[in-house]
Amino acid sequence: MRWANQAVAVNGKPVDDGALPGLQRIGLVRSVRAPQFDGITFHEVLCKSALNKIPEAAALPFRYTVNGYRGCSHACRYCFARPTHEYLDFNCGNDFDSQVVVKTNVAEVLRRELRRSSWRRETVALGTNTDPYQRAEGRYALMPGIVGALADSGTPLSILTKGTLLRRDLPLIAAAAQRVPVSVAVSLAVGDAELHRDVEPGTPTPQARLGLIAAIRDAGLDCHVMVAPVLPHLTDSVEHLDALLADIAAAGATGVTVFGLHLRRSTRGWFMSWLARSHPDLVGSYRELYRRGAYLPPSYREMLRERAAPLIAKHRLAGDHRPFAQAPRAVEPEPVQATLF
Ligand code: SF4
Repeated sequence: MRWANQAVAVNGKPVDDGALPGLQRIGLVRSVRAPQFDGITFHEVLCKSALNKIPEAAALPFRYTVNGYRGCSHACRYCFARPTHEYLDFNCGNDFDSQVVVKTNVAEVLRRELRRSSWRRETVALGTNTDPYQRAEGRYALMPGIVGALADSGTPLSILTKGTLLRRDLPLIAAAAQRVPVSVAVSLAVGDAELHRDVEPGTPTPQARLGLIAAIRDAGLDCHVMVAPVLPHLTDSVEHLDALLADIAAAGATGVTVFGLHLRRSTRGWFMSWLARSHPDLVGSYRELYRRGAYLPPSYREMLRERAAPLIAKHRLAGDHRPFAQAPRAVEPEPVQATLF
């Protein structure tokens, strides 16, 4: 109970005026705040299951995920895991950024599930809903237990992150890669420092993520980069993509995937209110682009493909790469969530 004196609620009962809607349903033990995580409340829960099976309708290249956290302090305005927070009766905006659910027993439960004779050792994707190396991981260190459990059971794994905290686990991940197939991918789609601070305010800087890519390569691992989501009129110019891909190639990345922004459900409202504050001149264009729904129209997607393909070739980066090559179709609450960045 190292942090017992930081508790704001125990067993779902607030010890201050903080409400804890919906959390009792998922096994809340206590809610805590810590001085070094200003503005963030951690809700520690004991999960009953760790492996999430992805429905086939999601059409993703993996069928299982593990997510140690719900909510993400990286706070990307466009994050399309945001609606999943509403299943906890939190809002998809500031609550998603600051009310982080931590499955403190996830590694232990995962180990138990992986021992089942029915487990077929299919690839398990980490980082598909919220970032496994967000700031909370510095405190709770769930990932070493998760990676260790997967490697010990002979299960291939993939990791997708924006978090430079992954450096801490590089020796462990490299050792796991000696035993099972391991894919590591970093998400980096905004090269402009000012835009980065505005649109991904809780994430490590682009420069820090380029350093992470180099560190992953130095550890002897391949590193794919998700240049996603590309933001229309903000990060889709030839100049921006060219400079970003040049930096990514110089950092040693082994491949990239480029795809554009989609705006599903409540993420759309959250993103559009940011856009109206920061880039009001673009609101009309975005309304037009997303007039028919959550996805960019085929004409825009084709334009982006034609723009990116020669740049990918110019910088000698490999393109399409499983299991990260594909944008998701569906965002569902656990246990059927299927979200990529
Ligand atoms: S896009 Fe990824 S890193 Fe950003 S808030 Fe969502 S889960 Fe976190």
